[in-house]
Amino acid sequence: LQDKLGRAFRLLSGKGRISEKNIEEAVKQVKLSLLEADVNYKVVKEFINGVTEKSLGEEVLKSFSPDQQFIKIVRDELINMLGERSSPLRLSSQPARIMMVGLQGSGKTTTSAKLATLLRKEGKKPLLVAADVYRPAAIDQLVQLGKQIDIPVFTGDRRNPVVIVKEAMQQAIKNINDVVILDTAGRLHIDDTMMSELKEIAALVKPDEILMVVDAMTGQDAVNSAKAFNEALELSGFVVTKLDGDARGGVILSIRHVTGKPVKFIGVSEKPDGLEVFYPDRVAGRILGLGDVLSLIDKIQANVDEEKAREMEEKFLKNKFDLEDFLDQLREIKKMGSIADILEMIPGAPKDVDLAGSEKSMKRTEAIIHSMTLKERRNPKLLNYSRKQRVARGSGTTIQDVNKLLKSYDQMKDMMKQFNRKGKLRKGIKGFP
Ligand code: GDP
Ligand code: MG
Repeated sequence: LQDKLGRAFRLLSGKGRISEKNIEEAVKQVKLSLLEADVNYKVVKEFINGVTEKSLGEEVLKSFSPDQQFIKIVRDELINMLGERSSPLRLSSQPARIMMVGLQGSGKTTTSAKLATLLRKEGKKPLLVAADVYRPAAIDQLVQLGKQIDIPVFTGDRRNPVVIVKEAMQQAIKNINDVVILDTAGRLHIDDTMMSELKEIAALVKPDEILMVVDAMTGQDAVNSAKAFNEALELSGFVVTKLDGDARGGVILSIRHVTGKPVKFIGVSEKPDGLEVFYPDRVAGRILGLGDVLSLIDKIQANVDEEKAREMEEKFLKNKFDLEDFLDQLREIKKMGSIADILEMIPGAPKDVDLAGSEKSMKRTEAIIHSMTLKERRNPKLLNYSRKQRVARGSGTTIQDVNKLLKSYDQMKDMMKQFNRKGKLRKGIKGFP
């Protein structure tokens, strides 16, 4: 129990200011996390520099440690950079036109069908257009998908994409389709022929949206192709697919940073309903790969009474910390949820500890302290053998339990002394916390 209490305790007590020294380890971790998530290294460098500059010298909230606060700044900045909120489609023409572009295999055809499904849910009447004429299989694929989701697919002469698109627009007007989704051809690599064909189609249909589909698994390459497409066409946004796989989605951050255009949707399965509106705050944690440390930070912030934390800190400094405070501390910890919940949110925390046992002993601790008189709580030294016997009886425990608790309390007091000496208990995110 002592050990776990110690951990939770440390969570509760921030100290001082953010300095290069006390966030050194956290910076390293964040950098690694972003690189592992496939964020472009230039973007990582810029991002880290910006965030470090922003946080240096910043006063640390009482309930945080410097590196927790740093991570919070990182998270906020990340969300800021990803765009604060979702970016809806802007469909103003009648019929509205959405042009899907991207490299082969990125998910254009699948995403076209998914988007049609999504728009129909919003009450629209979409028409899908198969304009990828270089691969007959691609046309059949869209026709097949259209049948599956019961949405019409226009294929035209299956030869000239510009003609197909022109005829498709007429068809849409005739059939009162209010949104046309163009599935265009991609290549394995960017080439001039593809780009000029796409430009020609864009000039013809004047799309409301040109969405580039990017495969999240392609990592660094995605950034280069996004840049090239954005320079050749007036992209309105991106769809990042295959986020249901291992990819952590660093691509999202990179393309947003490099092109300045928003990610509007993410693909999360192969199925027609596997498309979601992109919400920046939901992927920040995933990109950082810090487990749910971020939500833990929110939880601490929401639950710890600032005033109480300050009071407690003063007591630390004066080395006054009686069993009442010990109990207070326990209550604070309980407010944050069970120890099991908290441990679960901390990456790298031991999973094999006896959680049920420690919950139980926490309750026991509470019962024991409740059975003491106020005087005894203030001055535990009063507890001689007969008093301990009374407390044990009153709390339904044994003398050994009472002794164990007093030992935990002593250890925590020792910890406080260390705290006073060092000014802070821990540095770096290692073994967090
Ligand atoms: P296109 O060449 O750009 O038209 O790509 P396709 O639409 O044919 O997709 C290529 C492959 O990626 C297909 O096997 C799709 O099922 C798959 N795919 C597309 N989007 C997703 C996604 O979000 N998640 C998963 N798991 N697979 C996807
Ligand atoms: Mg295709």
